[in-house]
Amino acid sequence: MEPPYVKDILFSLVDGIYAVDTTRRILFWNDGAEKLTGYSSAEVLGRRCAENVLCHISSEGQVLCNNGCPLKAAIHDGSVGEAVVFLHHKQGHRLPVSLKASPLRDENGNIIGAVETFSLASSRENVLKRFEKMHKAAFLDKLTGIGNRRFGEATLENLSLQLPSTSYAVLFVDIDHFKDVNDTWGHAAGDDVLRMVANSLTSGIRKDDSAFRWGGEEFLIVLPNCAPKELANVGERLRMLVENSWLEHDGTILKVTASFGGTIANKDEDTNSVLQRADEQLYLSKGNGRNRVSIAIEQSQEEPNSKAR
Ligand code: GH3
Ligand code: MG
Ligand code: MG
Repeated sequence: MEPPYVKDILFSLVDGIYAVDTTRRILFWNDGAEKLTGYSSAEVLGRRCAENVLCHISSEGQVLCNNGCPLKAAIHDGSVGEAVVFLHHKQGHRLPVSLKASPLRDENGNIIGAVETFSLASSRENVLKRFEKMHKAAFLDKLTGIGNRRFGEATLENLSLQLPSTSYAVLFVDIDHFKDVNDTWGHAAGDDVLRMVANSLTSGIRKDDSAFRWGGEEFLIVLPNCAPKELANVGERLRMLVENSWLEHDGTILKVTASFGGTIANKDEDTNSVLQRADEQLYLSKGNGRNRVSIAIEQSQEEPNSKAR
């Protein structure tokens, strides 16, 4: 015998629960079902759910009462079914619900009816969530999980709109002799190294800075409100962090260095021109032996024109 409060628990659930006999006549209807459908138990007990009560339809508009009713299947062959359907609400509108239907059996195992639990499947919310996920994926680099070039470009565009009142700095980062890593240890090991460098760069930047994978083995760091001295400090810290990052691969320690090129945006300067100057600095770092930071500071920028944090 079940304790007497089991029925109270079923009644008080937020989810809707109703049970039917083998002719699909409603025997039980809880508070959740009443709230979700607008029908009180007095209005539905003893009626068949297909008799203008719930009349589930699929998202394609197919009426499920005769063909595709999950309760009917549970009664017929004992199957447990799950579906998202649109039920009829007493006020007339259609409501999306996720439901689960299972058979009800007597003590001998004979099917004596079926039970359905259902809860609101906010389709709008689901669509928004899916959209948000897609939107995020479009701006993230699959391999490293950091922002991709598109995200970096959008960030720069946004910052360039804030010129001249707020300036920003950029740092190009390019892994040194990365081709050798791939050639010696294979592409998968190369991918691990890229993830390692991306994580070290991310952990070495300041709160408002961001790191993006610009392409292949090249990254861009964007630093809003960054004074020249700070830019040099951050660049040097990142260089040091990459140099001191390593991972074990087949019993060998894999480590790389990276070269850096940075600059600060001038008043009203367009993004391409800022990036070009940073790229020239990166080229200098490569030419001067790699594993170094080169920064171009224009004369007008020598006095810090931005808040140091
Ligand atoms: P440097 O010091 O002059 O920058 O030399 P480098 O070897 O790093 O530069 P190079 O441009 O010759 O080679 C870059 C290599 O990066 C070649 C390419 O196969 C590799 N690469 C680009 N994208 C990926 C990737 O997603 N995964 C892996 N494993 N390798 C990549
Ligand atoms: Mg490169
Ligand atoms: Mg390289």
